[in-house]
Order: sequence, then structure tokens, then C-alpha cells
Amino acid sequence: MPEGHSVHRLARQFADVFQGERLAVSSPQGRFAQGAALLDGHVLTSSVAHGKHLFLGFEHGLLLHVHLGLYGAWNFGGDATFRGASSIGAPRKVGEREDFDNAPDAAALAGSYPGDAGADSYSGPPDPVGAVRVRLAGSHGWADLRGATTCEVVTRAESELVLARLGPDPLRNRPGDRDAFVAGVRARRTPLAALLMDQKVIAGVGNVYRAELLFRQRLDPWLAGKALAADAATRLWDDTVAMMSDGVRHGRIITTPPHYWSPATAGVPGGGLPAPEEAHFVYRRQGLECRNCGTPVALTDLGARKLYWCPGCQQI
Ligand SMILES: [Zn+2]
Repeated sequence: MPEGHSVHRLARQFADVFQGERLAVSSPQGRFAQGAALLDGHVLTSSVAHGKHLFLGFEHGLLLHVHLGLYGAWNFGGDATFRGASSIGAPRKVGEREDFDNAPDAAALAGSYPGDAGADSYSGPPDPVGAVRVRLAGSHGWADLRGATTCEVVTRAESELVLARLGPDPLRNRPGDRDAFVAGVRARRTPLAALLMDQKVIAGVGNVYRAELLFRQRLDPWLAGKALAADAATRLWDDTVAMMSDGVRHGRIITTPPHYWSPATAGVPGGGLPAPEEAHFVYRRQGLECRNCGTPVALTDLGARKLYWCPGCQQI
């Protein structure tokens, strides 16, 4: 499931390539035909992510609300002017499953895609491939959504209700968010590893960031929220903000600092990025030596999700 950084990149992408444009909205698959009809021919005026939720606002006051879930993905294509302003270029396919969370999506996305034509040859989107729930098309390109858990048209008031059920988003980090996170964590007896995945406590963290942040803060995953000191909860929030902001910038989850990277990578002027196997402390490193203490990294099921952690570094 894409974590919050991917959804924030998507929000930027939509703003960059579609905002201010009157869009053709359709549901090639047909399942979303009624919703698409409500948005078709309207101008996109806003694109906002909160946690794993994306809200695309239109000038007549309705919004498209999308949650990708485990299998959802957006594909983009268009002419040479249809590019986002994100530093590594426009994502072509966002919504990688957890299996691919390690993948440098810039590289994975750089390949050609049907409909990705040269600057002067764009004449509209290609025929839809597979079950496209919704297609947005502008004058320079298009975006197709497949497989999302949630794809619905909502009013402004309804979008506010969705937001009210979500905890603070570290990538928005608005005034009061940090205090709300600290209070939310410390009000619960639930283990920290579960709280970080609870979208009511903090919105946008998924399985990779959860494991990496607990390791970086040397926190026992089973520690009850109530037992976490306020200053430790504050540091956890601040580190989450920093790590996820890096994720937006890089389009990848990288939690190891450069001195853990191979010299060839870390020495690249302007800052190279690490190989996938160098990018994490514990995620998918079960059985390998902890980069800090040498203890084999452990893998435990917590709820329905795999938890990676170091028994040496993350004890009470
Ligand atoms: Zn360790």
C-alpha cells in the first residue's frame, strides 16, 4: 500500500498537470459512471492529500475522493508538456504495492507508457486498458485510476467528515498537529507499533515507515502509548515529519543516513541515493545483522501486518 509520501506526490502531480483545466471525466469500466458524470467538464481547482486520502476539488464544489488501498494505482500519460514539477519528474504510476516499496519509483516510472507521445503528437488518451475506474483527461494528458478501495464524489462537507476521522498528517504538520499526536498516543494503552498504523492517531504512516521510525527512535514496538514520555513522543513526531518529507522529495522511503551507503553512492556530488538494500534499518532485513548492534533483525506478525524490529536496540 502506498504510504503518505506517495499520496502527497500524487496530489502535487495533479496540481501540476491539471489544476485550472477543464477536465473530461469518464469511467471506462462503467462502475463509476454516475460519479464521473457529476465531475465531467468541470475545472480542477484544488488537489489535497491527507494521509492516504486524496481529494481533487472542482470549481462547482464537488470533490473526487480516492483511497488507493492495497491495489489501487494511477497511471499518467501525455505530451512532453505534461510533466509534474516534482524534483524527479512526473510519476507515471503511483500506488506501488508494499512489495515494491523499496523500488526507486523514478526509475521504475521512467519507461514509456501507452499514450506517452512526443510533444506535438498528442491527440487524446489511448484506449483504456483493463478496468479503468475513472479517467481524467485534459488538453495535454490523462490519468487513469484502477483498483482503488475508495473512489467517490463528495461534497465539501462530506470531505470534512472524512478528514475529521483522521489524525494529524505529518506531511501537513499544521499548528497543533504535533500536540494532537502526542496527546493521542499517550491516551492509549495500545502498543506503539499499532498506534503508528492507526490512521486516527497519525495519518499516512504505513508498514515501512512504522518499522523504520520505531527503530530510529529506539522504541520498543510493544510499549503502550500511555508509557511513552511526552518528549519521546515529540521526537517521534518530528522524525516522522523529517523522514516522510524526504520521502516526498525522493519518491522513495530512505531512512538510513548517507554514512550507511556505499562510498560510491554517498560520494556522488549533489547527493546520490542509496541502493534499495542500503535504504532501511530493519524493513525486510529479517535475519540480517542490525546496522547498529549486530543482533539479527526480527520479524513478527502484529495484527495482520509484518513488523520488523531489532531486539537488541528496541528493548524497554
Ligand atoms: Zn540493533
